[in-house]
Amino acid sequence: MANRPYIVGNWKMNGTRAMLSEARAIDRGAARHPAVRVAIAPPFTLVHAMAEDATAIAVGGQDCHASPSGAFTGDVSAPLLKDAGAQFVIVGHSERRALHGETDAAVRAKAEAALEAGLEVIVCVGETEAQRDAGQAEAVVAAQLEGSLPRGETAAQGVTVAYEPVWAIGTGRVPSVDDVGAMHRSIRAVLGAIYGEAGAEVAILYGGSVNAANASELLCADEVGGALVGGASLTAESFLTIVAAAGPLGD
Ligand code: PEP
Repeated sequence: MANRPYIVGNWKMNGTRAMLSEARAIDRGAARHPAVRVAIAPPFTLVHAMAEDATAIAVGGQDCHASPSGAFTGDVSAPLLKDAGAQFVIVGHSERRALHGETDAAVRAKAEAALEAGLEVIVCVGETEAQRDAGQAEAVVAAQLEGSLPRGETAAQGVTVAYEPVWAIGTGRVPSVDDVGAMHRSIRAVLGAIYGEAGAEVAILYGGSVNAANASELLCADEVGGALVGGASLTAESFLTIVAAAGPLGD
């Protein structure tokens, strides 16, 4: 099941230890859907405890520093995440790009550091509403991919791309299934140009207001290999409905 649909929850800055019971419910529920790959990226503070308890889900970070160690107060490196039990890390989320000024080059450095540490990496890209309205969405995303994706012979094996239109994150608005399919085909072409044949194996997730009601439709769009889910990943009830919606795609 190399190409199982991949459903990843991004808990953002939410989750005290009391939320570990929700993670456990997600983990036990995910075990009933072996055709789907399920993961959660909790805040750094929960990575270790969640990873220790997980039996069916992967646990990852939401960001990492590009250096393995050093005088970077408040930052967390990829080797530290790995040591805490993480299996992957998200880099280049639009909130980090917008609120922390992360450039494509910075995102690529983080992605390469993650692979170097033995983590898989989810690289996020996506256009703003103004860029889509100006007809620049595919060009903007292609440029982000060019600048942000890690390079190297084996890089494609550790990379997942998440297409997250900025205007769809946390807004309840989603692109049409046709627009999602068109963007994912465009991303697939860029992956081929960067990684050659290996680009065909890179999973491309859709993210942005995915919920229990719209997941089935969005997951059926062209070249969609799964979903990166924010708000709807915070409860087992809604997240497992999305996982179940991905089930038939993995059979
Ligand atoms: C996200 O932040 O990655 C995300 C997709 O959020 P939401 O599902 O809440 O739109």
